[in-house]
Amino acid sequence: MYEDQTSKHHELFIIGGGAAGLMAAVTARDQGIDTAIIESNDRLGKKIITTGNGRCNITNQSTATGTDEAVALSHKYHSNQSGFPIHVLRQFGVRQTIEFFSSLGLPFVSLENGRMYPMSLQAASVPGVFKLALEDRNVPVYYKHKVLDIIVSEEHPRFTIKCQTETEELVEYTSEYLFLCTGGLTAPKTGTDGSGYTLVERLGHTMIHPVAGIVQLKLDYPYLKELSGIKFEGLGHIIVNNEVIRSEYGEILFTDYGISGPPILQLSRKAAYNLGRGESVTLSVDMMPERTEEEVIDFLETHWAIFGHRTVADAFIGIISKKLIPVLLKEAGIDQQVHLLCEDLSWKTKKIFYRLMKRWEFKVADTNSFTNAQTTAGGIDTIDLVEGTLESKIVPGLYLAGEVMDVDGDCGGYNLQWAWSSGHVAAMALAKRRAGTT
Ligand SMILES: Cc1cc2nc3c(=O)[nH]c(=O)nc-3n(C[C@H](O)[C@H](O)[C@H](O)COP(=O)(O)OP(=O)(O)OC[C@H]3O[C@@H](n4cnc5c(N)ncnc54)[C@H](O)[C@@H]3O)c2cc1C
Repeated sequence: MYEDQTSKHHELFIIGGGAAGLMAAVTARDQGIDTAIIESNDRLGKKIITTGNGRCNITNQSTATGTDEAVALSHKYHSNQSGFPIHVLRQFGVRQTIEFFSSLGLPFVSLENGRMYPMSLQAASVPGVFKLALEDRNVPVYYKHKVLDIIVSEEHPRFTIKCQTETEELVEYTSEYLFLCTGGLTAPKTGTDGSGYTLVERLGHTMIHPVAGIVQLKLDYPYLKELSGIKFEGLGHIIVNNEVIRSEYGEILFTDYGISGPPILQLSRKAAYNLGRGESVTLSVDMMPERTEEEVIDFLETHWAIFGHRTVADAFIGIISKKLIPVLLKEAGIDQQVHLLCEDLSWKTKKIFYRLMKRWEFKVADTNSFTNAQTTAGGIDTIDLVEGTLESKIVPGLYLAGEVMDVDGDCGGYNLQWAWSSGHVAAMALAKRRAGTT
């Protein structure tokens, strides 16, 4: 990628060469807008390379089947203004994303649960094709430029962007329009340190307190070391004030600090928000979700009756992970050295096992940090953005796209989809504005 340092003015500057900024840059340029990108890293899309375990789960086609795809897709998103995302998703959803990348020369493959990936199954292909597309379109990229401040003027040029280069030189660029695509707070090593929030707040925008989303949970539980590494297919429920507020099914994994796995990552947003409000949050795990509580009781009663001569520990072999057995015995108050037989199990102890199988409860102490999270829940309040154009109501000519705003998606390709959708919609809205059609 070449770096055109000769021009200090472009009609549109995009701050942030991540997913949303890249989509916005290509779209804006295709609409005839003189566009340039400012990026603090020495390369584009540094975060994208880390996504989807190095494969980049670029979108998800499972919602693209019903009569109103945008409505189905919008249910995957969360925001303080819950009706906000659909105005963007209606304009540019999963189908348009597939077409867009296909036009750049990046075909997709669909794998598990509608998740789509680049055909190469290499996340690096995504910034790779964007780099080629920007070169094809002569879009300059100002690398290793960290934006420190934005000055807004009533005169032309409207925006002055103050940056620091890697040699700590201070430089200024100007533009008529500005896109802020600086991401959230997750994975700060990829360039997202929250500095974008400060830039927009200084211009008068307000924040919805950001918390880590799609992240592992830390549990307050004494036997985590013994459980660490155990995996099983189960159902997790987040409970606040005795009420189940979200449930998710899938592979659950215990770790030495707590619990992980796709359903836990999906539940983490609810846990984080309620912990942030000072609520007590409980995670309940159902290890036998395919059976009702009555069926579990029947099953264990029958099993213990047939194998009454076996120890309780031995009787669990084949039913649950062997590593789980000593912990379940401790929970039930059974000393493993005593070799208690199934035929000697008391009713009280049996009831503990039934509960553990269907409703094993753990106190959630915290979430892991932004360093381990995949998305930021919260961010710049969307109440100050025009629905469907993403232009600031406070600073006309300023547009936001991507994770920087208070919109986050479920696990499964929906966060990148938001970056693609919002980046595209903001660029098209600017194009219409310039053409005087809005
Ligand atoms: C480990 C991991 C795995 C993930 N996997 C998936 C997945 O498979 N599917 C999915 O949908 N989502 C996934 N996500 C989430 C997804 O990557 C993000 O939601 C998405 O990248 C957000 O795009 P963005 O453009 O808003 O921000 P980013 O992609 O974070 O880009 C922001 C850019 O702005 C730059 N920047 C920030 N501040 C400044 C400044 N002051 N000056 C100049 N430049 C600045 C940064 O360097 C960065 O390049 C994952 C996230 C992580 C961390």
